[in-house]
Amino acid sequence: MTIAMPLPDGATIARRDAIVAALRDIVPGEGVIDDPIAMRAYDCDGLTAYRQTPLVVALPETTAQVSAILRWCFDNGVKVVPRGSGTSLSGGALPMADAVLVVMSKFDRVLDVDYGDRVAVVQPGVTNLAVTRAVEEAGFYYAPDPSSQIACSIGGNVAENAGGVHCLKYGLTTNNVLGAEIVLMDGEVLRIGGRQLDPAGLDLIGVVVGSEGLLGMVTEVTVRILPKPETARALLIGFATIEDAGRCVADVIAAGIIPAGMELMDRPAIHAAEAFVRVGYPLDVEALLIVEVDGPPAECDHLIAEIDTIAVASGAVSCRASQDEGERLGFWAGRKAAFPAAGRLSPDYICMDGTIPRRRLPEVLNRIGEMSVRYGLRVANVFHAGDGNLHPLIMYDAEIDGQLEAAEAFGSDILRLCVEVGGVLSGEHGIGIEKRDLMPVMFSETDLMHQQRLKCAFDPALLLNPGKVFPQLHRCAELGRMHVHRGQVPFPDLPRF
Ligand SMILES: Cc1cc2nc3c(=O)[nH]c(=O)nc-3n(C[C@H](O)[C@H](O)[C@H](O)COP(=O)(O)OP(=O)(O)OC[C@H]3O[C@@H](n4cnc5c(N)ncnc54)[C@H](O)[C@@H]3O)c2cc1C
Repeated sequence: MTIAMPLPDGATIARRDAIVAALRDIVPGEGVIDDPIAMRAYDCDGLTAYRQTPLVVALPETTAQVSAILRWCFDNGVKVVPRGSGTSLSGGALPMADAVLVVMSKFDRVLDVDYGDRVAVVQPGVTNLAVTRAVEEAGFYYAPDPSSQIACSIGGNVAENAGGVHCLKYGLTTNNVLGAEIVLMDGEVLRIGGRQLDPAGLDLIGVVVGSEGLLGMVTEVTVRILPKPETARALLIGFATIEDAGRCVADVIAAGIIPAGMELMDRPAIHAAEAFVRVGYPLDVEALLIVEVDGPPAECDHLIAEIDTIAVASGAVSCRASQDEGERLGFWAGRKAAFPAAGRLSPDYICMDGTIPRRRLPEVLNRIGEMSVRYGLRVANVFHAGDGNLHPLIMYDAEIDGQLEAAEAFGSDILRLCVEVGGVLSGEHGIGIEKRDLMPVMFSETDLMHQQRLKCAFDPALLLNPGKVFPQLHRCAELGRMHVHRGQVPFPDLPRF
């Protein structure tokens, strides 16, 4: 464990019995878990190298209960960590020894579906896939589709601004959430956005989506639902070099085509996936691109032909278009199995997440290859190539001394490289604890101060999800402090209160 968390507050831990009793008054029955063995089910999220038993777990069922929990914790100076389904890969839902873990899994109802307005109002514990399941009979779906969609919650998707294969064309969570109810740390209930695309006032939805549980607890979400496309077809394109594949990705987008999905796998990922699900991927290529288009059949046929031409010009050595739905799903089956398949190659791996400009794909993938040799750790690449969102899987063995540390250092170098070539630290998995200490690589001190001022506006006592996202949290009073040089206050003509 190389990432340091804030030291637990012994005084809070000493008050545990009183905290548990107060929570039981708010959430009766089985809504509070304080048995250390039962709490082990919550001791980590998807970043499993980091574990911590929470102080106590609360499972509220209503907004009023969430509000009362947060209000009580605010009044009594107790920290809170929000949790959805616990699938985060960046440690955002990692519990703390001195914090109440508030789990939203009982908020599992679809509250309203309005096909006229094309919206669904759901509770945050509803899984991503359950939103589509609730509207698919009427021919609709919810577009953002993280691979974890069977398990991850909409609340967690909002907090992480989750993405997926189809976000290239249909946008990330932030482009598909219209409104939300959030409970602030002092218990206040705030409704932001609404059912319209452009609600009045400041864009607080834009602030809350991607805020990683640092600003408030999401208790209701209004999402856009879309009519299901008439058809979808996919192309499976093989390349002799990763450079050719990277160039093809950039050329397709440059030609004005926005595919529904465009995913790239390198040789280790292709071989792992093929051995796992046997879908007929070519094994003599260095890179495989899956490009999907959707819409009316005539449009799909036209786009398939255009992409085929671009692929050949980019040096493709094989190109197969799906002829029916079964074949299309077969193309995707390998991609979807790539992560579990990588688990067969190595006892442990970490999945990195960074984004780069598409044009830099070949160069960045080559440099990752060089790092792999330098660190002596294998890497497989499976990623959302269309939006430049990389997911290198760094393989290691946690049983071997020093390998976790080496894998983390390798991952940090990849993220530094992403920033160096004009990209960003995260594509969809968030910062959490995993990338927290790299924030200064991307943001200046001034940038970070401004982001922290926003945090202070929502959570002035810094009780909500501490230790995450910011490498160092300044007390809010420090951020508000004015620098006075030789007695000269800035803007002396303005009245001061
Ligand atoms: C196999 C696998 C594949 C994955 N594939 C993808 C992918 O394709 N795309 C992608 O984007 N992600 C992916 N992920 C990561 C993860 O599923 C997403 O980040 C997801 O959005 C997390 O949702 P969750 O409900 O599990 O949230 P959690 O892990 O419980 O929490 C995540 C963060 O959200 C906060 N949070 C949770 N609920 C609330 C709430 N109601 N209010 C306020 N804050 C809250 C937590 O404090 C934490 O900071 C994958 C994970 C796994 C394990």
